[in-house]
Amino acid sequence: MKRVALAAGLAILASHFASHGVNAQTNEQLVKGATDTSNVLNYGMGYDLQRFSSLKQINKETVKNLVPVWNYSFADDRSEESQPIVYQGVIYVTTHSATMAVDAKTGKQIWKTKVEYPPETPRIVCCGIINRGVALYDGKVFRTTLDANVIALDAKTGKELWRSKAGDIKEGYSMTVAPLVADGVVITGISGAEFGIRGFIDGWDPATGKHLWRTHTIPSPDEPGGDTWKGDTWKLGGGSTWITGSYDPDLKTVYWGVGNPGPFNSAVRPGDNLYTCSVLALDPKSGKIKWHFQFSPNNPFDYDAVAEMVLADMNIEGKPTKALMNANRNGFFYVLDRTNGKLLAANPYVKVNWATGIDMKTGRPIETEVSKEAREGKKVTVYPSILGGKNWEPMSFNPQTGLAYANTLAFGGRYKTVPAVYKAGEWYLGMDLSDLWEWGTGPRGHLKAIDPMTGKAKWEEPSDIPRFSGVLSTAGGVVFTGQLTGEFEAFDADTGKTLWQFQTGSGIEGQPVTWQQDGVQYVAVTSGYGGVYSLFSGDERLANVPPGGSLWVFALKQ
Ligand code: CA
Repeated sequence: MKRVALAAGLAILASHFASHGVNAQTNEQLVKGATDTSNVLNYGMGYDLQRFSSLKQINKETVKNLVPVWNYSFADDRSEESQPIVYQGVIYVTTHSATMAVDAKTGKQIWKTKVEYPPETPRIVCCGIINRGVALYDGKVFRTTLDANVIALDAKTGKELWRSKAGDIKEGYSMTVAPLVADGVVITGISGAEFGIRGFIDGWDPATGKHLWRTHTIPSPDEPGGDTWKGDTWKLGGGSTWITGSYDPDLKTVYWGVGNPGPFNSAVRPGDNLYTCSVLALDPKSGKIKWHFQFSPNNPFDYDAVAEMVLADMNIEGKPTKALMNANRNGFFYVLDRTNGKLLAANPYVKVNWATGIDMKTGRPIETEVSKEAREGKKVTVYPSILGGKNWEPMSFNPQTGLAYANTLAFGGRYKTVPAVYKAGEWYLGMDLSDLWEWGTGPRGHLKAIDPMTGKAKWEEPSDIPRFSGVLSTAGGVVFTGQLTGEFEAFDADTGKTLWQFQTGSGIEGQPVTWQQDGVQYVAVTSGYGGVYSLFSGDERLANVPPGGSLWVFALKQ
């Protein structure tokens, strides 16, 4: 009898594995991702996007002994911005044209699945031929493609399981975003606000790819907020959503940033233009908007508010507060109450001249003549430039130091509107692109350790060529980031002192992560040059940086 029961039990177990895979990732594992040091299951190293690890084998004292363990070639010459996801000893990483599974210890390829594109694809993508990584859930690997498809692959084999189309590349819709799986829903954003799209966020069934919901970031005239657009302007209103949102599982709320309005020329679209340059708090099951906060109403300057919405539980004026923080492209560092969207702090973290501050009652910027003249069509010099005070490259929040470590930009831009003409699949900007930059003479960027409540830097580490790499911080007191000239770097989290650096094969525009396997702490980062700064800056100092994407993994010398 016992033997029969055991056999029956094993059969049930076997069927469970057959349907879900031995290594299936669950909601619970994703929720615990920020504290699971043996895996990197979430984009942002946790649903909170803090990019902080409690590991400290690599620390201020030992980091000088960090050496490469292996290097894996992507066979790709584009910008490599993919965040590696690590699960049970396997790294899942992407380029724009392939998804790869690599053995985390040895660097040996397990599988590689290519993405094929229609020939017109690269022309209809704004700011880099890239992809920012996968999400892993229930034995499947989810990614997006430049021609706006969401794909699920079998995590074991790389075989494509389903493919769902989110938008038409011929109409300017494209995708680079790493998906978010929240409460069992695959959630994706969209790119293309420079091509006159109408932006949205989508929810998909992870098992089948069935479309579950779509929340437009630009309301139609009959929806709430529809009155912030005149006439038909909402149809081309932009509002892209190209960076992965954060998720608070207790509040069952996803926080997703929204990009610039289209076209840049704001005279075309009078009104606040909701929900461009905003953060949306969404229900993951339905996509329903719980609240929104708009950072830059009627924005002329391409101040996408897509960058990471970092979640932290902070003590603010003596009160434990569920906070959301964002180093906004508009130059202000915001702290909001994430339960209701109330503004708690907003201070400049770089030079800003388009507004003197943020009205703490209304949350609206107090604009200067620069904004007024820009809207009137006069040529202005604006700080920050259209690349922002910080672009997409994600910061890290270290709950032990209470500081946000961010790669910030220290230059302005010149801005002059021109008439905007819409043609499907073409740039729709209404901005003169012939004279874009006000570089100044100093360093063009800083790695800053920012106090979220004041925007002030405890320390800053300048670089002549700005950094466009993500940042990682650890309980070992180390901050990792990289240079466009290829140096992977480690800094002291308290002082900003350089502790270590290593020259990788190309420029770094990736997102460093760390985990521990069999008692060894590893750090991984992609190297591979070709993102927005290299495409548009004309910075000749980068002429000798070789392309060539690869994944580097480091550990302490044994
Ligand atoms: Ca933009």
